[in-house]
Amino acid sequence: MNERIFLSPPHMGDLEQEFVNEAFASNFIAPVGPQINAFEEEFAALVGTKYAAAVSSGTAALHLLLRYAGVTAGDEVICSTFTFVASANPIRYLGASPVFIDSDAKSWNMDPRLLVAELDKRHREGRLPKVVVLVHLYGQPADIDPIKQACDKYNVALLEDAAEALGSQYKGQAPGTFGLAGFFSFNGNKIITTSGGGMVVSDDEELIQKVKFWATQAKNDAVHYEHTEIGYNYRLSNVLAAIGRGQLKVLPDRVREKRRIFSHYHSALKDLPGVSFMPEPDFAHSSRWLTCLTVDQEQAGVDRDALIRILEKNNIESRPTWKPMHLQPLYRDCEVIGGEVAAKLFQQGICLPSGTAMSNNDLCLIVDIIKKCLGA
Ligand SMILES: *Cc1c(COP(=O)(O)O)cnc(C)c1O
Repeated sequence: MNERIFLSPPHMGDLEQEFVNEAFASNFIAPVGPQINAFEEEFAALVGTKYAAAVSSGTAALHLLLRYAGVTAGDEVICSTFTFVASANPIRYLGASPVFIDSDAKSWNMDPRLLVAELDKRHREGRLPKVVVLVHLYGQPADIDPIKQACDKYNVALLEDAAEALGSQYKGQAPGTFGLAGFFSFNGNKIITTSGGGMVVSDDEELIQKVKFWATQAKNDAVHYEHTEIGYNYRLSNVLAAIGRGQLKVLPDRVREKRRIFSHYHSALKDLPGVSFMPEPDFAHSSRWLTCLTVDQEQAGVDRDALIRILEKNNIESRPTWKPMHLQPLYRDCEVIGGEVAAKLFQQGICLPSGTAMSNNDLCLIVDIIKKCLGA
């Protein structure tokens, strides 16, 4: 039996260890220090914002951003339904409720027409939300322009969940940099990782200062620690920032490799009956963080779950695409606009192993197994 092939395991470059050694040599084994400052500066420069704030996770980043945007108990926040649960949970942390918007088939992300219609309707009814959380899934940017336009028109803050989209571009610009603020994640299976961590990016200096303040227990300037606001312990450690700096250096290589992996799967499997790959719209340059495709059981003769089972039997990890939030028991009571597109993507969708350190042999093995399973 082959060694286990994981979905998207960590892949270190050559410099991470060196930066970590620097952190040790300087004894900044703390959530403060030169590695954090350098990581923030290098990250902001890479995505093209003025500022960045390193935090302990993407989830923490969104929690802070929603609070900054003024979300409080009883509010409604509009959010993509086709996503990982961390896009919605921080809405609940603040006592607010998510309202979910369906995907479009073109990008698999939030359908701009549904969002525009919903904001128009809420404007007429005098109940506009304070915030829209727009998710860019699997390395694919959503169609940002019409969504941003509608948010600007009604003065609704746009927050971008770019946790899965580092290294992608929307019309030549990094997703996460279009709205009031965006955030990224460095969790273990993301395109680059610090084992855990997140980054808030924005051109708004006051926002970034506030995020850093709240993330370090909201300590006012006094030796005895004076407190006037609730804070959190959400800052990234200097040691993990050192790993992040090394990972940033190899990001372009990782994107190139992720796209190569996608191309390999695509050219080998695209003509099989019932198989459709996640499209890449004209406006997008996807990082292809995970290669995703759908299997239509009627045409393919087998369903997605059979494919996952066969791969698992061969010690290969694959996963269904995200179960939409409006189908999750946790969010059953929340309003959803549409929902059928995301439901179908979930029913038919599979994420294939996309680790950038995967060997060509592994890739060919996976392709062979899928072909056999689909009767090719
Ligand atoms: C990973 C992820 C998050 C959360 O990031 P963490 O760093 O794991 O807290 C949020 N949204 C999406 C879409 C994600 O994939």
